[in-house]
Amino acid sequence: MKNYIYKFGGSETDGNASLRNLLGGKGANLAEMARMDFPVPAGFTITTEVCTFTNRYNGKYPDGLKKQLSESLAFVEKFMGKKFGDKKNPLLLSVRSGARTSMPGMMDTVLNLGLNDTTIHGLIECSGDARFAWDAYRRFVQMYAEVALDIKGDKKGVSPFEEIIGQKKKEKNIQYDTDFTTEDLKELVLLFKGVVKDSGKEFPETPEEQLWGSIHAVFESWMNERAIIYRQINSIPENWGTAVNVQSMVFGNFGEDSGTGVAFTRDPATGKNDFYGEYLFNAQGEDVVAGLRTPHPISELGKTAPLVYNELLDYRLQLEKRFKEMMDIEFTIEKGKLWMLQARVGKRTAAAAIKIAIDMVHEGLIDRETALLGIDPEQLNQVLRPVFDPDEKRKAVKEKRNITQGLNAGPGAATGIIALTAEKAVEFKKDGSDVILTRIETSPDDIGGLKVSEGVLTARGGMTSHAALVARQMGKVCVAGCESLHIDYENRTVSVEGGITLKEGDFISLDGTTGEVFAGKIKTFASDIHRILIDGELDEKESDLYPYFQELMSWSDEMKTLGVRANADLPEQAKAALAFGAEGIGLCRTEHMFFGDDKISTVRKMILASNTEVRKNALTKLLPLQRNDFIGLFREMNGRPIIIRLLDPPLHEFLPEKEEEVEALAKDIGISTTEIHQKITSLSEVNPMLGFRGCRLGIVHPDITKTQARAIFEAACLVSKEGIKVLPEIMIPLALSPEELRLQKEVIEEVAKDVFEKEKMQLSYKTGTMIELPRAALLAGEMAVEAEFFSFGTNDLTQTTLGISRDDAGDFLPEYLDKKIFSASPFKTIDRKGVGRLIEIATTEGKKTRKDMEIGICGEHGGDPDSVKFCNEIGLNYVSCSPYRLPIARLAAAQAAILHRKIVAAA
Ligand code: ADP
Ligand code: MG
Ligand code: MG
Repeated sequence: MKNYIYKFGGSETDGNASLRNLLGGKGANLAEMARMDFPVPAGFTITTEVCTFTNRYNGKYPDGLKKQLSESLAFVEKFMGKKFGDKKNPLLLSVRSGARTSMPGMMDTVLNLGLNDTTIHGLIECSGDARFAWDAYRRFVQMYAEVALDIKGDKKGVSPFEEIIGQKKKEKNIQYDTDFTTEDLKELVLLFKGVVKDSGKEFPETPEEQLWGSIHAVFESWMNERAIIYRQINSIPENWGTAVNVQSMVFGNFGEDSGTGVAFTRDPATGKNDFYGEYLFNAQGEDVVAGLRTPHPISELGKTAPLVYNELLDYRLQLEKRFKEMMDIEFTIEKGKLWMLQARVGKRTAAAAIKIAIDMVHEGLIDRETALLGIDPEQLNQVLRPVFDPDEKRKAVKEKRNITQGLNAGPGAATGIIALTAEKAVEFKKDGSDVILTRIETSPDDIGGLKVSEGVLTARGGMTSHAALVARQMGKVCVAGCESLHIDYENRTVSVEGGITLKEGDFISLDGTTGEVFAGKIKTFASDIHRILIDGELDEKESDLYPYFQELMSWSDEMKTLGVRANADLPEQAKAALAFGAEGIGLCRTEHMFFGDDKISTVRKMILASNTEVRKNALTKLLPLQRNDFIGLFREMNGRPIIIRLLDPPLHEFLPEKEEEVEALAKDIGISTTEIHQKITSLSEVNPMLGFRGCRLGIVHPDITKTQARAIFEAACLVSKEGIKVLPEIMIPLALSPEELRLQKEVIEEVAKDVFEKEKMQLSYKTGTMIELPRAALLAGEMAVEAEFFSFGTNDLTQTTLGISRDDAGDFLPEYLDKKIFSASPFKTIDRKGVGRLIEIATTEGKKTRKDMEIGICGEHGGDPDSVKFCNEIGLNYVSCSPYRLPIARLAAAQAAILHRKIVAAA
């Protein structure tokens, strides 16, 4: 017969830590602790398979379960020297749920099970403490009623039991449960039973009924609404089921030499190697967490109960040795004797995760691979970005100042005053205020405003909208697509549907990690690492975390085989990129350089030019400006490769939107506003994503390519003459054929030859292409005849392969994720089956033509850990992402390499 029940207790323990799927996390670790000879109250675990069975067959249990249960119960009775339901010396039990992963607060626990009007006298007798016994009884009646009989109180969620307790305290003018007398507790039991009766349910008197009722309730709770929603949010499959742990009770509410507590083997906030925890004397169960009385720090136990404390310290070490993890434990002290009730891997902040992993390597507990694999790359955001002062954020939530929620598009916390235009942002900043740029949506025009803002808030647009993309690249906090936000440019207000209205200049705060938006100010803390590496305002010696972060990064770099580059357009972004470990620039978007104040009007003149002569003039004016940009970038990157993409967006993106700007432009270049409007209309496209853009611009207007190439080569020569190595890689965007590459290369080569002759020097450079159209991927073998490198523009390649516009996907993508058509957003994680397949084909074909071809990806996916893993698997040379995601990419690349090596070793 199949084993549905695993016992734990001393040497007769059946389970162990590796049986987590079957026994749940709690059951598996209770078994493991029992095996380690820890004082674990004996008990048994009913497996998760029984949960799945009983939920499938409407409450039926598998054959043989009853028999196994009575055998297991007999084992517990023997182990504890007590009998379940006994008149003289009754065994009391706890019934505890426990899934594979912990689901905090999702399912409930019943304590003190086995008490009834008969056994209570046995408990009084053998404990010699009537007050204690009645206290246990009243707790049991309440818990059983709440958990097994589902008597939870009225609609407002007020428990009828808590209400009675409250009344009683008022009546007696006492503050704490511990002040109740035996008589009070006796009365509570009666009153509680009355509540049960009034609800039309029955309180079972026999311990067996109580036990099965509780087991049943725990299994059923797996299917309650709370649990279902929790599973959905956390992607936990329904068929995992929960286990049920039945365990003999130990009592922390046995007077002043008893108590209960929780602890972490290390500090979960800072990661410091200190025993960290809290306990309460004369308390049971969740009293510590419930916050009714103030618990004591665990170190005090060292003074009041040194023996117990030393025992705990010993278990602390043993647990870390066994589990090789920071553990979270629950314990109870009964009349001076310690009992261990739970151990699981402890939750921790990102800073603690880093410190603990690295300390454990130095302590010889784990190796470097294990340390690196144990840290979630995404969590690094927490140590790179500013965060809210937790107290102030809690206060803001309490005051209901969280007015709305959008997409968490750029992590970190920001606070400042609302500016509704880029110009206002600049103006406010000049006056010394921190600013949140708040727009319906942003356009390249808003760059100046974004630059001076602490964060950006938009009402429209997705995770990869302009605002989100640029904010991430600049390391700004961003909440995007906040649909309930009404932004009124006319009246200069921001309001929430059916809620508050804020004026321009009012304070607003953004949590870009969660997407929350708060009215008013919330204090933020800058991250140490940012202050050291980017702002240069903190000395590294003053930071506890920084050396750990550096060590983590250097180990990652040693392990990884994939290169990491950054998407950066301006010298200061390149600087940030280097600080975060970039080995080169994977994507410099030259059009971003065009938006500087000094350039945009010349760019506009070029676009509006009525003939080649005027266009040439504008381009001539643009040349030195663009050259300067490259000079800055080349100097900053100091010999590292830089991929420079030629002009890519459709030209209308550069033209003004606001009427004042159109007028100013008209004046400036001496044409009528009508003419400008006509040009804007003629350039506008039904589908700009598939329109006149990319290398199509350079094919039709070779002068643009010429000017850009000249700016690049002249800058390269100049910087190279300063003794700095320069490695430009010119990238032709959105190509779909080798012919386009050939034509553009001709132009570029001609310029190169001319510049090198004039400068009397020779420089090596590469020309390559961005693969962002399926046709280009399929023709990769031919494209590689011309292209010396490929970079997959995975944003556009995803759009063009899936036929989905990322900016418009918001309306249906959530449904697609819900219905599991996609397992993750294809704009966040590379769609392996489609886009990934094209990347693989193109990589293979490209390398057939050009064996040592350098191939990488740029675009949002370059900073996504799963996508990084994919790139590692198919043997790309590098990934390129925004500077602020570099540490994440480095760690993800290291993890990918470690896993790869493990797989190879296993094969
Ligand atoms: P959770 O999964 O919510 O942590 P537990 O099953 O750990 O729930 O139970 C909650 C609390 O009940 C424990 O922290 C412990 O204080 C108390 N408890 C559970 N089982 C026992 C027991 N056998 N003896 C004494 N107290 C117990
Ligand atoms: Mg617990
Ligand atoms: Mg593109």
